[in-house]
Amino acid sequence: MTKTEMNKFKKILENKQDELERIVRNRDAITIEKSADALDEVQHASERELAIRNLDRESNLLRNVRLALRRIEDESFGICLHCEEEISPKRLAAVPWAAFCIQCQEQADRNQEQGNDMLEDLLVNAA
Ligand SMILES: [Zn+2]
Repeated sequence: MTKTEMNKFKKILENKQDELERIVRNRDAITIEKSADALDEVQHASERELAIRNLDRESNLLRNVRLALRRIEDESFGICLHCEEEISPKRLAAVPWAAFCIQCQEQADRNQEQGNDMLEDLLVNAA
């Protein structure tokens, strides 16, 4: 990857980082406000859970964006962390913070799905 391309991704990632930091900060405030006047605990619990789940997703994304910026700094950006092959330019254009090539990502997603199922089973059995 050329320096120019790298700089282009750096700009995109920095913008995304700003945007996500704003969202995560605002969401924090909303979550606290909601729980403060939660009269109906059951109803608000599910709203809160949803807010927290969204926040989780955005926090995760923010972490991925930060890690991608770090990879730009040490010039390993665009290389799959798992198999060390180059990530396709098309994939990077769609997901600039991608840490894995499409094959490794699909494998990771499959593993994660299994992990989530297991977690849900545990929660159902516990309840
Ligand atoms: Zn890979």
